[in-house]
Amino acid sequence: MKFKSVLEQSSPVDFREALCSGIAPDGSLYVPELLPSLSVEFISSLPEKSFQEIVVKTLSLFLEEMPGEALERIVRQSLTFPIPLVRLEEHLFLLELFRGPTLAFKDVGARFMAQALSYYLGQEERETTILVATSGDTGSAVAHGFFNVSHITVYVLYPSGKISRLQEQQMTTLGGNIRAIEVEGTFDDCQKLVKQSLADRELVNARNLTTANSINIGRLLPQITYYVWAMAQWQKQFKQNDEKPVVVVPSGNFGNLTAAVYAKWIGTPIKGFLAATNANDVVPEYFQAGVFTPRSSVQTYSNAMDVGNPSNLARLQALYRFDVQKMKNDIQAISITDTQTLEEIKRTYERTGHVIDPHTAVGVAAARAMNIKAPTIIASTAHPAKFQEVIQLALGKEVPLPVQLQEALDKQKLSVKIPADFTVWRKALLADATTR
Ligand SMILES: *Cc1c(COP(=O)(O)O)cnc(C)c1O
Repeated sequence: MKFKSVLEQSSPVDFREALCSGIAPDGSLYVPELLPSLSVEFISSLPEKSFQEIVVKTLSLFLEEMPGEALERIVRQSLTFPIPLVRLEEHLFLLELFRGPTLAFKDVGARFMAQALSYYLGQEERETTILVATSGDTGSAVAHGFFNVSHITVYVLYPSGKISRLQEQQMTTLGGNIRAIEVEGTFDDCQKLVKQSLADRELVNARNLTTANSINIGRLLPQITYYVWAMAQWQKQFKQNDEKPVVVVPSGNFGNLTAAVYAKWIGTPIKGFLAATNANDVVPEYFQAGVFTPRSSVQTYSNAMDVGNPSNLARLQALYRFDVQKMKNDIQAISITDTQTLEEIKRTYERTGHVIDPHTAVGVAAARAMNIKAPTIIASTAHPAKFQEVIQLALGKEVPLPVQLQEALDKQKLSVKIPADFTVWRKALLADATTR
């Protein structure tokens, strides 16, 4: 299986190359050249399969080149936590993706990518430097996923003052091979610095640069697997008739939604999708107007989704051959305000006793607003304790802190502050290289 670039101006590469370089030489994202298919037998026996079996089977379709044993080991080492599907209300279900070490769904992609990269680097005795721009949760997931993984140094670039203290503590307190860079700008500025770095040949060669943002195909592929697993659980525990579920994905950079759409295209019986955004509504607007107008992001309560120019939209456009109409046959999109988000946290708590985080709340509010009649699976992307300020606003009380968060809060912040300026950043990165 090969991976081609969205623009198709560079040649297709194998998984190892796509994983290590992150972005294609033509500057666009890698996508599977042809989407594979799960066999009909496999699909019909989903309810009998274990999580591990489903993950390995799904990934093996994309990673034919990797020996089966290696893939099984990588999956065992990275997906060390459960991903349960729970009933919220009558026909609403939550896919709890936040039971990993940093309590957000990005643990799945980040940990898989770390182990896969370490597998290939170990074979070659090579060093690599990973750059990651974060609007909140990516940074901590990547920092934790790569912490103490040999041959790898990680730089996490985050917007100063625009993430919660807890998120900041989670990514700035590890030390070791993890460097936290506090950028005086927005998430989009951070992402731009990363993109510019990866397009800079000299820099790429000097530091053997790659990225771990959701633009890396090594992060995206494992996310496909939990939608297959969600369907297995739904069929086993909740299915009553032949109706297929709709999947709702709270979206920012649209990686998680892209993975869900890939899951359907490889054969998972999903009816359709609802992309739920916060006030950063460029995609809902694109679906309505037919033209895509990226903008600067605005800050909201669901800050891990504050993205004004979602990278993964290009992957969806490539999949649907730039036909918005076709895309809309599978995917609907809606924007939810901060007020609706708070109301939803409150409503869900009062009706069910579940405390949901603001990102999940955007998804639940979206599902209600669209009045979906089919069974609806909402990706629950983070633990509410990561967003105490918002929970406090909505419920007038906080949720208990899980131990891993308490530990991070008690540690010392280690970070370097820079302006959102490529020249300054480039110099700092090269200087850091010469000191090693
Ligand atoms: C990153 C993130 C999202 C958005 O996921 P995308 O793949 O960027 O669309 C949603 N919720 C949480 C908690 C996140 O960390």
